[in-house]
Amino acid sequence: MSGLDSRKKNTARHEFKNLSRFPGLFHGVYTRHGGVSPPPFDSLNVSWNVGDEEVRVRSNLVKIHDEMGVDFLVSSPQVHGNEVHVIHEAAIASYGNRHPVLLTPPGDALVTRLKGVGLLIKVADCQSILLLDPVSETIANVHSGWRGSVAGIAKKTVSLMVERFGADPPSMLAAVGPSLGPCCAEFVNHERELPKSFLDFQVRPNHFDFWAITRRQLMDEGLKLENIEIAGRCTVCEKDNFFSYRGLGETGRLASVIGWKAVR
Ligand SMILES: [Zn+2]
Repeated sequence: MSGLDSRKKNTARHEFKNLSRFPGLFHGVYTRHGGVSPPPFDSLNVSWNVGDEEVRVRSNLVKIHDEMGVDFLVSSPQVHGNEVHVIHEAAIASYGNRHPVLLTPPGDALVTRLKGVGLLIKVADCQSILLLDPVSETIANVHSGWRGSVAGIAKKTVSLMVERFGADPPSMLAAVGPSLGPCCAEFVNHERELPKSFLDFQVRPNHFDFWAITRRQLMDEGLKLENIEIAGRCTVCEKDNFFSYRGLGETGRLASVIGWKAVR
């Protein structure tokens, strides 16, 4: 086998064991492969805002939409804040239509109980955190980079799911997608950028374990350790399979999705 053959591209999306047990639930973080965008967005780029052509991004999104078996995708202009959007029947009419995506106002977390709605988060080193409350069948997709970790967006999303939908944290499942690993999460300005409490997660000088920070934050909200699954794949180290802003600079954005299939 030639060297090229042995470096066969990984086109599958990263799926999580804990979320794979639920019939009707589609989820995963797509690799960068399998789309139509040219370099440096090759190839499954889902962001309109990185310089890629609109028609190619739409084609990539349609592929994901069709695979998911949902009526439409919902996404937000992500702003590294802590705004959580609840997707319900009445809200949908107010969203912008950018086929096959409905666009909410700016925000970084999406929550729904509706069938046929795919929640889409776009990442390139930031974490996407998928949440499921099996009791109320509420799902969420959270965009959390280091600013999101500081702002506590995962915690805020869990508590909203509890308040609005009666979610039960000890029953909830969480999955943290491929993202910046402790190997590559260097923050030379951490004294200015990160709270002192994050020093507990410093693995060597200036390097922080944001996977462990998210696990701690979710456990603080009542989730159980055994229900939190972390992909453990660093996007910088694995930039051949994933888009990585730190690793590549000008690049695409990965699609992280979760959604109940449409009932037809
Ligand atoms: Zn790494």
